[in-house]
Amino acid sequence: MYPYPRLPPRTGMMVGMTSGGDGERTRVVVVGAGQAGLSVSWYLRRLGLEVGRDLVVLDRGPGTGGAWQHRWESLRLGAAHRVHDLPGMAGLGLGFDSADRRAPARDVVAEQYARYEAALELDVRRPVEVTGVTGLGDGFAVRWVGRASSGSVRAEVVVNATGTWGAPFVPWYPGRDTFAGRQLHTSDYRAASELEGLDVVVVGGGTSAIGFVLELDGVAASTTWVTRRPVDWLDQGELDVESAVAAVAAQDRAARAGQALPSIVSGTGVPRTRRFVSGIERGLLVERPMFSAIERDGVRWADGTFAHADAIVWATGFRPELRHLAPLGLRSADGGVSVEGGASTLDPRLFFAGYGPQASTIGANRAGRAIARQVVARLSGSDAERRG
Ligand code: FAD
Repeated sequence: MYPYPRLPPRTGMMVGMTSGGDGERTRVVVVGAGQAGLSVSWYLRRLGLEVGRDLVVLDRGPGTGGAWQHRWESLRLGAAHRVHDLPGMAGLGLGFDSADRRAPARDVVAEQYARYEAALELDVRRPVEVTGVTGLGDGFAVRWVGRASSGSVRAEVVVNATGTWGAPFVPWYPGRDTFAGRQLHTSDYRAASELEGLDVVVVGGGTSAIGFVLELDGVAASTTWVTRRPVDWLDQGELDVESAVAAVAAQDRAARAGQALPSIVSGTGVPRTRRFVSGIERGLLVERPMFSAIERDGVRWADGTFAHADAIVWATGFRPELRHLAPLGLRSADGGVSVEGGASTLDPRLFFAGYGPQASTIGANRAGRAIARQVVARLSGSDAERRG
């Protein structure tokens, strides 16, 4: 039904497009142009979908790179995890393994994705935020807001690939709302220099928290690192999230059951990179248990110990960003949405790419192929129905 098209290489990128007012129709809308959205789009293009007529990709970000474009300046590719190539990247002369590891990851990823999108002639519309997805008899109405315009697109199928960056999670502790200093989440962190000369408490047991503790050495006046449970250091220096089979399986179980997703780092452990080992050896990476309360000027442990704090950095993770799907009423009583093999179990016209077990760059890649096949099967099925 959908022949393989040729994908001629093209230079230049179309940014800032917000075409299509109310009433635009297409067959598939992909929400989000991060690793997951681009991977699905690659396979949909390979399966013959034409941009515009069959496929519209909407992204809230001002530029290319998905969540990577927002990450802090000092983060480098391969700092802890491997960033896998998008499908077909090698054939386009692109790839992360040969990319510059000294340049900020946000710039490298943005550049590679820009060239990838251009080669796919994907014409991602950005900055365009999807604010609501409503179910219709024959598909969905996807409402969007752009810089200077708004509208909606009707589609038979929606692929949600919105990641987690827009839904930072900060746990509640007594006194959190009356702390007099600065509180910032990973998603707000720009550079250690912003916390120069301050007493800083870093909360979290993942690679972001550990990176912040190391960066703050010699910049902050003091750094106190606290974690909910002792860090599970791995023997190896690199973590391939997909190889953490048990953690991926736990994500999959929760996704199928419609439960809130468990923390990934609690299932994978933290790789002993050379940088982290050096931090341990220099006595910088000494975690303390969680404090029990926050006071106006610091944090207090259950045994009465107190640490003065001017700033608290919450490196406490993210949740899937699904607010715009609220009109579909998919949330279960257990706080999640039920997803099996990338498809919603409640609405077969809705897919989730990069969700749960797919929330790594390699997981997102694999999701692309599996989801695109299901999408095309669905479209072919409705074509056949229409023909009678
Ligand atoms: P994202 O990259 O977040 O893309 C989602 C896109 O959806 C964004 O462009 C966003 O603008 C858009 N969007 C969201 N909501 C809307 C909306 N309502 N309307 C329109 N657009 C919307 N994984 C690895 O495999 N290796 C690593 O080294 C690694 N490092 C990480 C470091 C950090 C600090 C974090 C937080 C995560 C890291 N991960 C890593 C996990 C990483 O997030 C995923 O691997 C992958 O990049 C996520 O891709 P995604 O497409 O699912 O999400």
